[in-house]
Amino acid sequence: MTTRVRHQAPPPPNGCRWCGIEQRGHARRWVTSRGFHTWEQPTQAQRLARMRARRNAKADRVLDKRLNALKEKP
Ligand SMILES: [Zn+2]
Repeated sequence: MTTRVRHQAPPPPNGCRWCGIEQRGHARRWVTSRGFHTWEQPTQAQRLARMRARRNAKADRVLDKRLNALKEKP
């Protein structure tokens, strides 16, 4: 099985199982792994992984900000 990474930021936890786009505004989309599809509920594991990824990404941004602030001080 291959893992495709097509998002810069983690998708919303309740985003489509196949493409990560939220139900509102999804309509019909095309992705390589699934082809044309309508919004489909993500799996519980996907929801958890997305929530973790978002939390980690947020923590990284906060840390980067603090580190950059330290660097800028004379
Ligand atoms: Zn989708």
